[in-house]
Amino acid sequence: MRTDLFVDGTWSAGSAGSFDVLDPSSAARIAAVARAGLDDLDRAITAAHTAQPLWAATAPRERSELLRRAFEGMIARRDEIAALIVREMGKSQADALAEVTYAAEFLRWFAEEAVRIDGELRVAPSGANRILTFRRPVGVALLLTPWNFPAAMATRKIGPALAAGCTVVLKPAEDTPLTALLLAEIFANAGIPDGVVNVLTTDQPGELVTAALADPRVRKLSFTGSTQVGRVLLGQAAAHVVNCSMELGGNAPFLVLDDADVDAAVAGAMLAKMRNYGQACTAANRFIVDSSVVSEFTSKLVDAMASVPSAPLVNSRAVDGVAGRVDSSGGRVLLGGKRESGPGFHYPPTVVTDVPYDSVLAREEVFGPVATILTVPDADAAVALANSTEMGLVAYVYTQDLGRGLRISERLEAGMVGLNRGLVSDPAAPFGGVKESGLGREGGYEGIQEYLETMYVATSW
Ligand code: NAD
Repeated sequence: MRTDLFVDGTWSAGSAGSFDVLDPSSAARIAAVARAGLDDLDRAITAAHTAQPLWAATAPRERSELLRRAFEGMIARRDEIAALIVREMGKSQADALAEVTYAAEFLRWFAEEAVRIDGELRVAPSGANRILTFRRPVGVALLLTPWNFPAAMATRKIGPALAAGCTVVLKPAEDTPLTALLLAEIFANAGIPDGVVNVLTTDQPGELVTAALADPRVRKLSFTGSTQVGRVLLGQAAAHVVNCSMELGGNAPFLVLDDADVDAAVAGAMLAKMRNYGQACTAANRFIVDSSVVSEFTSKLVDAMASVPSAPLVNSRAVDGVAGRVDSSGGRVLLGGKRESGPGFHYPPTVVTDVPYDSVLAREEVFGPVATILTVPDADAAVALANSTEMGLVAYVYTQDLGRGLRISERLEAGMVGLNRGLVSDPAAPFGGVKESGLGREGGYEGIQEYLETMYVATSW
């Protein structure tokens, strides 16, 4: 198991000591991992900054093939990566295997995009001159990732950054640094040159990230995490006008309209709610259900939730956060709702109904296995309630009338909609939010654009 920093192609201890990583299912210590200090940060930025022009000058086909090899390296070690994710993050093995496949697919997708970076030739309206556009890499990118998808959140950033010709310094979340270090090994084994991918681990991100954003050699910040931290980082990025992509918090509404196929809605709800045991930014946070179908939907959802085995949350703070919101929700608990004793950080699948619209469960992202049900009289009220939040990442809509579903989708303030579908994540799709859920898109054709800027040459001939 790799526990050291990965800088400029070599492994080294952290200059600020080490920190413990715990197994969420037992609270036992798994490993002591290097804590990067400011001199490690300087080494990493220097390595990335030195490697960047050389990497940007490699043939697109070569960057593509190296990314493709990294994809193959991940697939070859799929079981090992999944086992490590289970150990440090606590998700089920099935969820972990699905994550590794999803994560690897970002490398394959962006390997295919690396050879499609192009420019344009335009004729000025006067006819007197020509406008030539080029797409160029932004430069050194600082990548900050959360703990809930330790592999996929990293590859969703590293894939497009490398395809574009950027070099990176990745700082994974303190709960899940081991997966990122294993990925560094896979990139190195794939032949990615020294300095192109650097990984710094720490349990004290504030100081390190503040220093990184104060360094003018860092030209890009891609952050996935909470809106609260994202806001602070946007402020810090302003000092050197750093290009920012922000994938922030969600509070996804899941609309079940009067003409929904309730069984299909329950199946979609289970996917949208319980993938990753509720610890996803795309997790359905508010089930907004038409009063004509709410009793059928609720009883079927309770049955489905009751069949899910209890699993750990990532840490004890997460359990406190979920339990605190359920206890003060003002709703009626139909299933679960009580902390579980024993080692590790467990909380059971929970369903709360008759929840007031202004309940903490409806206002805040619960990030756990809690289904909150709000009842509405009609579709207009459902849309109004769905939009009544500062977040706008994803929304889900269930109706058997596709035209109606599309019209409702257009009215939802969200970056993504799952229409009769409980899963929106796809490496080929533009993932991202509106309002305080973020800036920019990851994946799809859009994902690589976040790491490119446009330059143009004016000329005449
Ligand atoms: P978090 O904001 O606490 O941490 C995210 C990252 O920021 C971690 O790497 C952490 O070490 C770092 N960080 C924390 N405090 C920092 C500081 N003061 N300065 C600099 N860096 C700091 O979020 P989390 O708890 O790890 O993740 C959960 C949140 O992430 C949820 O809100 C979830 O919705 C969001 N999320 C969003 C997406 C998306 O794509 N929109 C995906 C996954 C998770």
